Amino acid sequence: MYVEGEALSSLILRNIEAFHTSTVPELCRLKLQEIIRHATADGDIDFSYSEERLQCISESLELDLSTLEYINRAPSWGLLLAPCERVQFCPSCVREDLKFIRFPVWRLSWGYTHYTVCDTHLCPLQILKGEYRCNNPLYRINSVGRYIIDFPSETVGAGYSGEIARLVDTLAMVANNVQTQLDTWREQSQDERSDLFFSLLSAVLRAYMKPVDVPPYCYQLSKSLLRENVAPIASHGSSVGDLFFGHTKATSVTARMIGVVMTAVILDIASARAYWQNIVALFSDIGVLVPNNPTWLFTTCTGTADQGVRAWLTNSNGAKLNLPHFLLEELNFP
Ligand SMILES: [Zn+2]
Repeated sequence: MYVEGEALSSLILRNIEAFHTSTVPELCRLKLQEIIRHATADGDIDFSYSEERLQCISESLELDLSTLEYINRAPSWGLLLAPCERVQFCPSCVREDLKFIRFPVWRLSWGYTHYTVCDTHLCPLQILKGEYRCNNPLYRINSVGRYIIDFPSETVGAGYSGEIARLVDTLAMVANNVQTQLDTWREQSQDERSDLFFSLLSAVLRAYMKPVDVPPYCYQLSKSLLRENVAPIASHGSSVGDLFFGHTKATSVTARMIGVVMTAVILDIASARAYWQNIVALFSDIGVLVPNNPTWLFTTCTGTADQGVRAWLTNSNGAKLNLPHFLLEELNFP
């Protein structure tokens, strides 16, 4: 049985570990164990299994090869987190899976940088951290099971209170609208529009170089909510281009959620601008001043026109990010 949206690693582990309910013969189980061991050594347990191994999985689980080939393809669309950072999940999805199929199914969508809200339960995703944090994604399914047992109630993990909770809820609602818009573009093959979104989002979520640079704006804002610095730091001597891979290490769901919403406000998609005034007011309630105008927001997120990432975006190097000049000119600070 394949669960819609399941990652390949989850499918394999589910059939290895749930042996008491599985009909998979012992010999096949050993083969699957060998395959997942190789995938772990190769560095990514979710994608890019060899054709030969896919064939073996297909025969062992009596599953259609084309389905496996489809979920095996590393996405060319969207922004993926680095393999060891793919530790975000929806507690409600996990609880339901444990109840109905007795195994937490790991979703492919949880591996995306821009995916921060569960589209079924409309709640921000949780991150395995502290003692639940696993350096090897092979153990994330066990960790998530332990997490759910330790926090059986609906309000799992660190709950927000009062004004911050209202702000996080509003951000989550808008981020979910943006995800829906992105999914629609994907179905309609509107690559240019989604490329533009992802290019700007990777600039917004970039890494920074300590101590010459300050943390990008979305991390400063998430720090004002979480009281912890979660900005990815680039190693000394990284090129500006390398900074744009910060999104692969952007571990904070809150920071990414803010980044997704701000990108949508700048590009005027999914009615994000209509909600922005409300979000600005909610930030103001907790004593944080946020630009209410998309142009100022763009400047705050990317730096002034003559320096840093902004300059890099506007010069010829920026062309490979597919950021069109009309956007930059239109948004130019008068
Ligand atoms: Zn969910």
